[in-house]
Amino acid sequence: MTFYVTTPIYYVNAAPHLGHAYTTIAADVMARHHRQRGEEVFFLTGTDEHGEPVADAAHALGIEPQQLADRNAERFKSLAPRIEVSNDFFIRTTDRVHEQKVQEVLSQVRDNGFVYEGTYEGWYCPRCADFKAENEIDPGNRCPIHHIELTREQEDNYFFKLSAFQEPLERLYAERADFVAPRTRYNEALSFIRSGLRDVPLTRHKLSWGVRVPWDHEHVFYVWFDALLNYYTALSYARDEDLTAKFWPASYHLIGKDILRFHAVYWPALLMAAGIELPRHIFVHGYLLMEGEKMSKSLGNVLDPFEVIERFGADALRFYVLREVPFGQDGSVSTASFELRYETELANELGNLASRTLAMVGRYRDWQLPPCAPDPALAADFEDLTDRVAELMDRAELTLALDEIWQRVRRLNRYVEERAPWRLAAEPARAQELDGVLGSLAEGLRSVTVLLWPYIPASCERLLAALGASGLALADAGLGSGRVERLSHLEPLFPKEA
Ligand SMILES: [Zn+2]
Repeated sequence: MTFYVTTPIYYVNAAPHLGHAYTTIAADVMARHHRQRGEEVFFLTGTDEHGEPVADAAHALGIEPQQLADRNAERFKSLAPRIEVSNDFFIRTTDRVHEQKVQEVLSQVRDNGFVYEGTYEGWYCPRCADFKAENEIDPGNRCPIHHIELTREQEDNYFFKLSAFQEPLERLYAERADFVAPRTRYNEALSFIRSGLRDVPLTRHKLSWGVRVPWDHEHVFYVWFDALLNYYTALSYARDEDLTAKFWPASYHLIGKDILRFHAVYWPALLMAAGIELPRHIFVHGYLLMEGEKMSKSLGNVLDPFEVIERFGADALRFYVLREVPFGQDGSVSTASFELRYETELANELGNLASRTLAMVGRYRDWQLPPCAPDPALAADFEDLTDRVAELMDRAELTLALDEIWQRVRRLNRYVEERAPWRLAAEPARAQELDGVLGSLAEGLRSVTVLLWPYIPASCERLLAALGASGLALADAGLGSGRVERLSHLEPLFPKEA
């Protein structure tokens, strides 16, 4: 089994922000989960570096576009380790082999009869690097995304015969109801297709900052086609061996809703035109909205991912963004709700559960636990948990999967209260019962920690080390599948005074 997950490649003109971190964290959670299953995983992220906006920005700074791209790509590249992201490769669309592969694939599209010469005239947003269809122009001829005035542009281009894929795309959507998720995004893409597809420019004539069109050197490929192909080209040169046969088609492309049309319409059409197999799933997440009215004392009113990481750790950020806003929907984030989740859930519910459990085993059993079967009362509530989590992960339901796990964290806290080990410890006759309760608790803690690892890896690794059970395999995540016998002290996982 293999699993291939991608983030969009990030446009180098912007500085990395919470939105970029969000998609990358989500892809990382999926990649880690599938590694836990023992699958061979490839996780790709990177930067989109061509197009007019980069050339313009470089020009304004008096430097070459490549210099600007080099400088800015580094900021995205260095973001990954700071948010504990385990990507297998970082692609840059200025990589020489990427450019060659783009030329190869698009020449194939032309050989297959889907490219022709023509003149295009339309409303163009230089920030999107995209012409806008009549039905997506805001009043005053403005870009619906950037709210700047569009310019009327006319140019001789090569066109991609998108209209030829009207029927094949409708068939694709009819046959594969899970090609695009959530359902609202599937419907949105399908209705765009049904509104009638028109051919789109494949090349730009006046620009030079892009991948050169091999059959006409006065043109470069339109940046979107060059960018989309990264998902495919990366596999051919990320390692010494070509990984395409092993990992293509991609299992999941994670994208934001602003780039739906490119991924859900142009991308499959382009792949069909090139004779390349289509990806299995495109999952579209929503926006993290900062409304700014809920402010925390320590973090001010802007949820700056870098500040959160510095003060609370990357795990806290990872947990918060996937816990607070259902993955796939828009939702509000704020520094106040961050602090609330941090204190009530990470510090109190998980952190305290871990420190109490460990401390009791230390105090009452000198850090050693005899073998025991998990308490049936607890076992019933953990039944099928691993399967349920895996099934939700298969559908990229990252928030629902996290909630399943978190319900068991809460269940373990209730178990401590119900069984009150400190009371059992006061009665020597109930020593065996105490062994059972502590053993069940420790094993329950191990189970949820293995399942939480994709979300908060650093904390889980520390906790598993303290439990003396570092195995991460999903097959052993179930309650009673592991063995906790020799434990050790652990400093608070989520200190309150961060
Ligand atoms: Zn725009």
